[in-house]
Amino acid sequence: MKLAKRMSRIAVEGAFEVLARARALEAQGRHIIHLEIGEPDFPTPRHIVEAGKKALDEGWTHYGPTLGLPELREAIAAYICRTRGIQLGPERVSVVPGGKPIIFFPMLALLEPGDEVIYPNPGFPVYESMINFLGATPVPIPLVEDRGFSFDLDLLARKLSPKTKMLILNSPHNPTGGVIPAEDIHAIAGLVRDRDLIVLSDEIYTRIYFDEPPLSIATLPGMLDKTIILDGFSKTYAMTGWRLGYGVMPVWLVDAVNKLMVNSNSCTASFTQRAGIAALNGPQNEVDHMVAEFRRRRDAFCAGLNTLPGFRCPIPGGAFYAYPNITGTGMTSTAFADALLQEAGVACLSGTAFGEYGEGYLRFSVANSLENLMAAIQRIREFLHA
Ligand code: PLP
Repeated sequence: MKLAKRMSRIAVEGAFEVLARARALEAQGRHIIHLEIGEPDFPTPRHIVEAGKKALDEGWTHYGPTLGLPELREAIAAYICRTRGIQLGPERVSVVPGGKPIIFFPMLALLEPGDEVIYPNPGFPVYESMINFLGATPVPIPLVEDRGFSFDLDLLARKLSPKTKMLILNSPHNPTGGVIPAEDIHAIAGLVRDRDLIVLSDEIYTRIYFDEPPLSIATLPGMLDKTIILDGFSKTYAMTGWRLGYGVMPVWLVDAVNKLMVNSNSCTASFTQRAGIAALNGPQNEVDHMVAEFRRRRDAFCAGLNTLPGFRCPIPGGAFYAYPNITGTGMTSTAFADALLQEAGVACLSGTAFGEYGEGYLRFSVANSLENLMAAIQRIREFLHA
């Protein structure tokens, strides 16, 4: 039996592959420092867990409405108004199992062969994978290290064409940690406002920033009706395993997501949605604590990386990644990442796991203790014989 041809165009995520290789080494007795996986190393805050347990006890164990519990859609709409400073209602919200479905479903609903999609490269690998899977045309835009890993706006202007159906933005950005400056967001809105395209604004890291807060393009004049905001609970509330996320989008697209959800998931788990309400409406001090801790680690880890020969690490403005330029080592990113895992027991990702323009870079997640991060710096130093 042969798989459908389109399956040859869908990719897997490098982070999960490296994790599997690292685990295999651990099974042989090796000690590995895990800096490859993109999930907070903090527990889900207690009051959220309690809300989930209570929901199970109360019997929130059945199907719910396809687009999410009305109370959660209300809470999300209010949260988006609060955090982004815009006005919108729950009819624009669709609750789905994680942030990823807000890439999968809207792309499935919108893209056809011949449609062009502009997206950051390096970038979250699922964007490119889905564009290829659907037979649309990928239009990667390299990110510019000197611009804090933002786009070259002239290049973006040149790449926009009558066929551009979607533009993907991700700020704070995976893998670089870059935050798109507000003036760039304004300039991008100016470029796309009068075009027949939709912006997928991946804001999953929006609460994790260290300097300037990220600006959502949806808040700019004329942009709300042509933007899909992707957000969720995985990163902000350390809830990766709960599988709870959402999109905020024009109502005609909510209707399309509804149909795709009916045909795939029926609905998102009801008790996790009850926990989600507690997350949005409850105390936020643990989010603040987590972000403060990521900042402390970012400062120490990037400073450490910058002492290594051949390494140059810009200081990321958000998310929980360090993305050093390693061209000075003379090694390719893949060769470096593979050897670092095998020889030094430090698991990280090659920049090329995020696209061809990731060559020359590595991604380290700082979702590990400061002690382990500093031990990793020491291991890399020894690996470099420095
Ligand atoms: N978008 C970006 C940029 C991410 O890094 C991730 C997770 O790593 C997601 C979306 C998906 O998040 P979730 O685990 O909620 O599906």
